Amino acid sequence: MEMKWIYFFGGGKANGKAELKDILGGKGAGLAEMANMGVPVPPGFTITSEACTFYFKHKAYPEELKAEIHENLAKIEKLVGARFGDEENPLLVSVRSGARVSMPGMMESILNLGLNEKTVRGLARRTNNERFAYDTCRRFIQTWASVVIGMDGKILEKVLEQKKWERGLTLDTELSTEDLKEIVQKMENKVKEVAGRECASDPYEQLWEAISAVFESWNSPSAIAYREANNIPEEWGTAVNVQAMVFGNMGDRSGTGVVFSRDPSTGERKLFGEFMRNAQGEDIVAGVRTPQPISDLEKLMPPCYKELWAISQRLERHFKDLQDIEFTIQDEKLWILQTRAGKRAAQAGVKVAIDMVREKLIGAKEAFQYISPEDVEQLLHPTLDPTAEKEVIATGLPASPGVASGKIVFDPEELAELARDNDDYILVRNETSADDFAGIMAAKGVLTARGGITSHAAVVTRGMGKSSVVGAAAITIDEGREEFIVGNKVFRKGDYITLDGAKGEVMSGKLPVIAPRPSRELEELLVWTDLAKSLKVMANADNPQDAKLARDFGAEGIGLCRTEHMVFQPDRIDYFRKAIVAEEATTREEALKKLMSMCRPDFVEIFEQMEGLPVTVRLLDPPLHEFLPLPYAEDELKTLSRRLGIPFGKLRAKAGELHESNPMLGHRGCRLGITSPEIYECGVRAIMEAACELSEKGLRIFPEIMLPLVAHVEELKFLRALVVDVCEKVKREWGADDLSYQVGVMIELPRAALIADELAQYADFFSFGTNDLTQTAFGISRDDAGTFMPTYLKGEIFASDPFISLDESGVGELIKIAVERGRKTKPNLKIGICGEHGGNPKSIEFFDKVGLDYVSCSPYRVPVARLAAAQIAVQPKI
Ligand code: PEP
Ligand code: MG
Repeated sequence: MEMKWIYFFGGGKANGKAELKDILGGKGAGLAEMANMGVPVPPGFTITSEACTFYFKHKAYPEELKAEIHENLAKIEKLVGARFGDEENPLLVSVRSGARVSMPGMMESILNLGLNEKTVRGLARRTNNERFAYDTCRRFIQTWASVVIGMDGKILEKVLEQKKWERGLTLDTELSTEDLKEIVQKMENKVKEVAGRECASDPYEQLWEAISAVFESWNSPSAIAYREANNIPEEWGTAVNVQAMVFGNMGDRSGTGVVFSRDPSTGERKLFGEFMRNAQGEDIVAGVRTPQPISDLEKLMPPCYKELWAISQRLERHFKDLQDIEFTIQDEKLWILQTRAGKRAAQAGVKVAIDMVREKLIGAKEAFQYISPEDVEQLLHPTLDPTAEKEVIATGLPASPGVASGKIVFDPEELAELARDNDDYILVRNETSADDFAGIMAAKGVLTARGGITSHAAVVTRGMGKSSVVGAAAITIDEGREEFIVGNKVFRKGDYITLDGAKGEVMSGKLPVIAPRPSRELEELLVWTDLAKSLKVMANADNPQDAKLARDFGAEGIGLCRTEHMVFQPDRIDYFRKAIVAEEATTREEALKKLMSMCRPDFVEIFEQMEGLPVTVRLLDPPLHEFLPLPYAEDELKTLSRRLGIPFGKLRAKAGELHESNPMLGHRGCRLGITSPEIYECGVRAIMEAACELSEKGLRIFPEIMLPLVAHVEELKFLRALVVDVCEKVKREWGADDLSYQVGVMIELPRAALIADELAQYADFFSFGTNDLTQTAFGISRDDAGTFMPTYLKGEIFASDPFISLDESGVGELIKIAVERGRKTKPNLKIGICGEHGGNPKSIEFFDKVGLDYVSCSPYRVPVARLAAAQIAVQPKI
């Protein structure tokens, strides 16, 4: 098949169209589409990206290209009524790059190409505007020198500035024709002097040089870096757009500008943007003069304004999105140079999507594709005022999004007290533990020097939707002196800091924060996600408030209720401590019974909140020593001993006995249930009694009991029997024959994944605990990763933190194996994930692909996960 290297557009039609974006690039496809719609675009042609690929492969242009360029230039000449290189009536063109996706690092536009010593005079004569011709000429030399020759733009800028200074002028527009003639001459001399060459004077030579400069920019270091970071294949190449010039610098009845078809900050339907009279190209962004708001155009050139509004609306209808449009007015005639989907603020994105559905521009099922999971995240958390000047003093892991400003406090108990006065505080700790809960709760944000993305501080703040930065290793905390040092600065108790939990930044001072604005519109948009997605989105919630929040955010049940969080509460924890330390069975049973009676109402409320939906409760997981002070924390042990009425020596001995050198791999998870069955029995009883109480009242309750850290099938067999035994007993006691329940297993150890076929025999469902699975697959302690993870990420040993974004090639492989083996035993086995990855959009895509039934994440991430799941579902499957 004969290859076509060029597509023409102009005169109300085009050879190209939007579907050819891959070879015409975004800009070329947009221009073709606009020409076909009859929008006034200056005529031109697009050299395809295939020509670029050919150029790099063969180190030469395709043979036919020259003839095709001549043929297409002739078409432009005919439409414009001017000839390229003609000394009397010269055609000038612009040359622009345009890849499939817009990319930084590509060549800047070259305007006014085709000018030389002779054609500039022709242009002056034909337009009867000598000043304009020489202004255009100096612009051409300036761009040519910097873009094609690679000269520092400041050198020629200085020539211009010098002249203005000599003449006592401030604006370019005040320069006279004679000034400009002189400037052109001086600029040409300067180019010769600095670059040792002249600007090509033959317009065709200029054109070829510009085309190869566009192609070469595809391989510029910054373009390569961008391509690599965004997985853009090298073979895509870039297209080149050559287009007849229209001139915004012809005087006060001309100008150039940028408009949005709707306000990109609010979403309001009105023209938004600015323009500048007697200006060209980059003048607006370069800030040479202050542009005027677009509303002024309505007064100055009403027909142009009216036409611009009408075109913006047509373009929106055609491209089905808010448009960002570049235009030029030449002698009161409007020309459109480019249109593309406009970037918008998160809140505006939601409004635009909803409004477009109401205006029947798009269907409800498409609407949620107009916002990103990051937008949703932003809308649910406070963000930093973008105009604020910030001084980042340290960075850590972005543990929980949101921006928080407050006074530093190091002692969580003191913070809880102080916060009563309604001031804002940031808790700063080396790391947090269950005992700090009240302080975390009262703080605006949490900063830790140690710990990873699944550390206590990270998990707890995420659950609360509170800003936190963890593992900021650069800060050294001296709790005794109540200060921390970073670099050569000291921050003391009471000093203000600001945290950006989405970026992991710690900033000095109190910075302005923009409050979140979750709107009714966002809720409406998210309801539509449920029409599309197949993956269910559940929530990780351990108390009634979180359960309510999760349901409000659209959770389809609870995928993880960590029972230890119910125990870790000031009024409860001491009973559990008593049970741990007790030597006689009766004392232990009594303490556990009391604890159970305190947790049961929580289960009742959680089940009530989730009526009609499954609630997965995980039995106790952390090692018991986490509930006691460290064996050498004498003061804490003494206080506790007094409070519990247990001799200090006995308490210290117990703390020592429970101490572990590697608690992550020690006496935790289902191992606790095997060595101390009474703890699990008590938990199951609390859950089932709550379920029975509500089903007796006629509520539909679906309890699911989940066993953590199982590695061997015998562990599961033993514990399933225990759980079923207690469940049946409680059901009999309550006469709740119809209440059904499930017993499932967490897959959070590599061995569990590999023997998933055996485990499936004794499990009603699987739930991947990807925090522990990542920890054990990598052999990286999730609490200690913070010490070296930043180095790994900076040095690109890891492309991303595997505790944030699932490691697909390793941990993901274990997941695939477990899914396949589990479903070999039980084809309909329900499988989900409840690790932190359940709220990460990229990981969600993987979970969907490998056939999971649900993801479970903290309540604040439920909307993000719903959107991500829906967007994945409508993606074309390759
Ligand atoms: C996990 O390991 O992924 C999990 C959900 O459990 P936890 O974080 O409580 O260990
Ligand atoms: Mg776990």
